[in-house]
Amino acid sequence: MTPPLDDEKYSRQILFAGVGPRGQQRLLSAGAVIVGCGAIGAAVANLLTRAGVGQLRILDRDFVETSNLQRQILFDEHDAREALPKAVAAERKLRALNSDLQIEGVVADLNAKNIEELLSGFPLILDGTDNFETRFLINDFAVQTGTPWIYAAAVASYGLSFVVRPRQTACLACLLESGGAPGLEETCDTVGVLGPIVNLVASLEAAEALKLLSGNASALHGRLISCDVWSGHLQAVQPERNPVCRACARGEYRYLQGKVQPQITMCGRDSVQIHERRRVLDLPALEKRLSSTIAGVRQNGFLLRFRVAPYEMTVFSDGRAIVKGTQDPAVARSLYAKYIGA
Ligand SMILES: [Zn+2]
Repeated sequence: MTPPLDDEKYSRQILFAGVGPRGQQRLLSAGAVIVGCGAIGAAVANLLTRAGVGQLRILDRDFVETSNLQRQILFDEHDAREALPKAVAAERKLRALNSDLQIEGVVADLNAKNIEELLSGFPLILDGTDNFETRFLINDFAVQTGTPWIYAAAVASYGLSFVVRPRQTACLACLLESGGAPGLEETCDTVGVLGPIVNLVASLEAAEALKLLSGNASALHGRLISCDVWSGHLQAVQPERNPVCRACARGEYRYLQGKVQPQITMCGRDSVQIHERRRVLDLPALEKRLSSTIAGVRQNGFLLRFRVAPYEMTVFSDGRAIVKGTQDPAVARSLYAKYIGA
């Protein structure tokens, strides 16, 4: 149900000619799904919640750590101490910011199997991810279903954003699979990232989202904007569609189809993620069992953590696990088998 128009709460946004009372009413009846709630995702979620976008779903697979706090504006030291899943911590913060809205945090790792269930029904998909595997998966889904999505990425002091409107603009495959625009090869785990660039890129993304969701698609600038807050370099280009693009021209959705997600993926600089076949773990029971042999096992209802030096293992209630302290899938697999079970 669309919340009533609160003139006071949104007064400054309603005064802005591009939005007005009509645009605000449309925002309140609109919705978006944000994939990934790290730095960019959290900043976009914050802006759209304050702007009054009626329904927001926030997906994230990770939990809050101290090293996130420098740039991930929805989280605080308490969230990091509790190792709360980002989706859970984000939902709590966002509800406190604006109680009019329907806000739902979902702890999940987006993949080809669950993408339809998690993204269907939303008129806009927003990129808060940190990897191209997931972005190409979103792009395939968006192009196939004709749903607009907004690409946004940042690393070090550099970032970019672009609105993909399937078959009207270039898509991510047009941009990156034909050797045109630059991708971002490095990751935040290798070269770091500054808070100002993620917030700038998130602002570019949120502004385009507000245009789309308030009924102002004609105001979209259509450009891929890239910027470097350290050098001061700014660029805006209008990317061309690739007439033979495998996704938006030929309809080959290779990230959606047939590609079974690998069971083990790298996750950051020194971690391995294990995607078990989906199963429900009884975390309190696991805590009890592990505590008989391991000191300091902690469990918060969403995830369970323990250290077996030099490794740290975090297990989610859906069976997924992140093993820190190794890059070797075999080590991660054997730790999982030993402590969690096959
Ligand atoms: Zn394309």
